[in-house]
Amino acid sequence: MALLQELGLRPVINASATLTRLGGSIMPPEVWAAMDEARTQFVDLIEMQRRVGERIAALTHNEAAYVSSGAAAGLVLATAACVTGTDETAIRRLPHLDGLKSEVIVQATQRNGYDFAVRQVGVRLVEIGDAGGATVTDLERAISPATAAVAWFQGAMTRPTDLPLEMVIEVAKVHGIPVIVDAAAQLPPPDNLWKYTQMGADLALFSGGKDLRGPQSSGLILGRAELIAACALHGNPNPRIGRPMKVGKEEMAGLLAAVERYLRLDHGERTRECDRIVALWCAALNEVAGVAATRDFPNEAGQPLPWCRVAIDSGVTGVARDEVVVRLMAGDPSVAVACRDPDAIHLNPTTLEPGEETIVLARVMDELSSRRTIA
Ligand SMILES: *Cc1c(COP(=O)(O)O)cnc(C)c1O
Repeated sequence: MALLQELGLRPVINASATLTRLGGSIMPPEVWAAMDEARTQFVDLIEMQRRVGERIAALTHNEAAYVSSGAAAGLVLATAACVTGTDETAIRRLPHLDGLKSEVIVQATQRNGYDFAVRQVGVRLVEIGDAGGATVTDLERAISPATAAVAWFQGAMTRPTDLPLEMVIEVAKVHGIPVIVDAAAQLPPPDNLWKYTQMGADLALFSGGKDLRGPQSSGLILGRAELIAACALHGNPNPRIGRPMKVGKEEMAGLLAAVERYLRLDHGERTRECDRIVALWCAALNEVAGVAATRDFPNEAGQPLPWCRVAIDSGVTGVARDEVVVRLMAGDPSVAVACRDPDAIHLNPTTLEPGEETIVLARVMDELSSRRTIA
């Protein structure tokens, strides 16, 4: 690609995951076609946000929807909405919370980097439970008149010992406290777009730029109409707390097209294609001395797609796991792989473009079979 070359950048083949630091995902033609169309016309942005939201809400069986500039931005807007509702005076005061609800409850084990997005509204996180889990009593004790919301993070940080989401929702409902579910990477299956809200969560957030393959700087807030209306008041073009997280007309059009595409997609066929690639990798890599490749399931975010675990016995291969990862990235072409377990890499078929599976395989074979002595 001429532009990358001019900038001195090398393209990366992504066999890791929909990671923001690698560019997230590749937009399919129907997504950029929609963005290309949207870029050519001026439009009333608030009206466009409303119409796109109505369309996405209908497609995803939700009461209402809002396009944010990502799932993390969705956490900011959702938290702000739970703090202020649609009260304009309160909305203008953020992030100063005097007289407003100022606490968000979270399970201690679910604390993660994205909770910065919750805290930037000004709220304090109140942790419940510990490594051993959390109980209904922990949650009930943490609830106070200052509680704005309960946040639930779904993904690698969710533990089997967590107080289950069903119970969190049940308890929160009794106290009239909204539940925000960060489900950024919880696709597929597509019906997760309505699963959490149908369970009773008030708002559910998704990345637009992960498996949905919408614009990289887009995200979805789905759920209760009144809270979505508050998100819109906080969001651009209004000069409020969400203003720096601008969503353009192009992102709105692109994300709508991405949601439509995702719901039309044959997910069974896609899973079979991933299985075919993983089987191909396993067969070839298991011929390499010191390597044991197996189909692993589910994927890194707990989603129902297969990926390939490649265990490396460095005593035999002559090259340690970390060295393999560095060489794959530094080589030509550059290949990014995932590191989940010690002494193993994971290869993910879901972020590959057609045909890249053979390039990934050739690169991995090369690094694992020809390095008996380290240069
Ligand atoms: C990826 C991710 C985010 C951030 O999503 P963006 O769309 O990149 O803002 C937030 N929370 C979780 C759990 C994630 O996996």
